[in-house]
Amino acid sequence: MTGKAIESALIKAIAREPRIALFEHFFAIDVITAGKMARRQRKALPADADRVVGVYALDVRDRRVVTFQAPVVMLSSGGAGQVYLYTTNPDIATGDGIAMAYRAGVEVRNMEFIQFHPTALYSLSGKRFLISEAVRGEGAILRNAEGEAFMPRYHPQADLAPRDIVARAIDAEMKRTGAPHVWLDITHRNSAFLRSRFPLIHRFCTEEGIDISKDKIPVVPAAHYTCGGVATTLAAETTLPGLYACGEVACTGLHGANRLASNSLLEAVVMAHRGAASVAAYLGRTGKAAAPSAIPEWRDFGGGDLDERVVITHNWDELRRTMWDYVSIMRTTKRLERARTRIANLSREIQEYYANFSVDSRLLELRNMIQVAELIVTCALQRHESRGLHAVAEFPKKLSRAADTSVRRKF
Ligand SMILES: Cc1cc2nc3c(=O)[nH]c(=O)nc-3n(C[C@H](O)[C@H](O)[C@H](O)COP(=O)(O)OP(=O)(O)OC[C@H]3O[C@@H](n4cnc5c(N)ncnc54)[C@H](O)[C@@H]3O)c2cc1C
Repeated sequence: MTGKAIESALIKAIAREPRIALFEHFFAIDVITAGKMARRQRKALPADADRVVGVYALDVRDRRVVTFQAPVVMLSSGGAGQVYLYTTNPDIATGDGIAMAYRAGVEVRNMEFIQFHPTALYSLSGKRFLISEAVRGEGAILRNAEGEAFMPRYHPQADLAPRDIVARAIDAEMKRTGAPHVWLDITHRNSAFLRSRFPLIHRFCTEEGIDISKDKIPVVPAAHYTCGGVATTLAAETTLPGLYACGEVACTGLHGANRLASNSLLEAVVMAHRGAASVAAYLGRTGKAAAPSAIPEWRDFGGGDLDERVVITHNWDELRRTMWDYVSIMRTTKRLERARTRIANLSREIQEYYANFSVDSRLLELRNMIQVAELIVTCALQRHESRGLHAVAEFPKKLSRAADTSVRRKF
């Protein structure tokens, strides 16, 4: 509801501001950089002369790619929860901005730190609705398939332990008992209280046939927040002049290796404000002349529509299943390597499709998700310790010195 209030206020403010042109149903594909243009023309460009010059975007309704010239681009495309089979995130959270930045040669950092929310509703429809931690705050107890209240075995704060500890405990109990979920029990509270304290949760569960005042709620962990992302300063600057990032797409370092709930306001509101100031300063320094006059139009490879859409659907499912099974809450080096091999195959296949057919948003999202999955696995394999949200069986201890993991594409 907080998010809804912020979004409504933002949309109203945009509508009032005549200097803002809004392009709805446009899907940003890639950032255009001076370096990319020079490489296409086989010209040399000094490393420090690289900068943003625009964006290619798909006009989804007209099915054509449009070139936007721009001296500055601010990425604010959200997180990447959709790379996992189970996620609380909306459908748009496919990591587009992170993949775009990586392809442009920008530094991406700490992608192994994926926060899993411990209690998403387990529903056979596959949708994962978030059951807020406030329910445990009101005394709800987690129980395993045997009915045992298991959390006291894992942490002195039992059901009120930190999010990552609860998520790992649930994962361990599900693996131990073989059950597809655990239970959240708030049946000691009556229906009137629950309806007024948790109206949305009460309504959603009722629609799923669960009376939370009488029935235990089936819950599972689900991918919730991408703490890593496009590396930025605390002024939203990335490693590429003219490219900025704020919100969940960015890795500012503010979350460290673990995220406290509700800190997105800091990322999305404070960092957006700071980013706007730093964009104004950049434009003041470089002027609008920063964008070149002629950006080459999008090269359509002219292959027509995809011949077999089943490949997209299949690879989409395979990627998300691979990430859930091999790269989720508890990791091992062997599973991470297995995931790397599978994702490399998917990457080769999608590249072939990208090169031979006209693009559509589903194909572009899958390409981005595969890219982001590769980045998560690469960062996870770089970190030889368990820290915050990254737990790996071979390296159970935390190293004495905290360091970032980092990836950057070489051209
Ligand atoms: C169920 C749930 C509950 C949460 N509860 C809380 C909470 O209580 N407190 C809290 O602080 N945080 C909470 N969060 C986290 C918080 O909602 C997010 O971190 C935050 O909304 C991210 O904001 P954002 O602006 O970075 O991205 P988003 O809000 O995800 O917006 C990204 C936008 O970019 C667009 N976009 C994406 N890709 C492209 C593309 N290629 N081209 C064009 N447009 C694109 C999308 O359509 C979308 O409009 C919750 C998250 C979830 C999923």
